[in-house]
Amino acid sequence: MRIPRFTAAELEGVVQLLSSEAIPFELEGVTVGATGWGATTEYYLLVNEADFVATCALLMDYYNIDSGTEEPFEGTCPACHSEVAGTLECPDCGLHFGFETPTSMQQHPFYKFLEEHGLLPTD
Ligand SMILES: [Zn+2]
Repeated sequence: MRIPRFTAAELEGVVQLLSSEAIPFELEGVTVGATGWGATTEYYLLVNEADFVATCALLMDYYNIDSGTEEPFEGTCPACHSEVAGTLECPDCGLHFGFETPTSMQQHPFYKFLEEHGLLPTD
């Protein structure tokens, strides 16, 4: 199975992640972007079909891809430092504590791959 697609900078973390779980994998480099100046190499991750689901789960965890589970927050608000006692929003500044997949991650080739194949976690 071929999982898209990670930059050279991301690769180290991904390799470490799979190695720590003893999942065998291979990498396939591709050149993306313009040829010459501005071209970069990115990598497809190749895993055995048997490891595919586990690998996706690991990567989803790694990249904080989540169905948007919302858990009440308790502690000190990171924005205004008031005490919050188990709510989804800060009562003082309205900061939302719900956990969502970061917007930047939704542009990632791996996220799009999950989306296209209906592999994103759902509630
Ligand atoms: Zn606050």
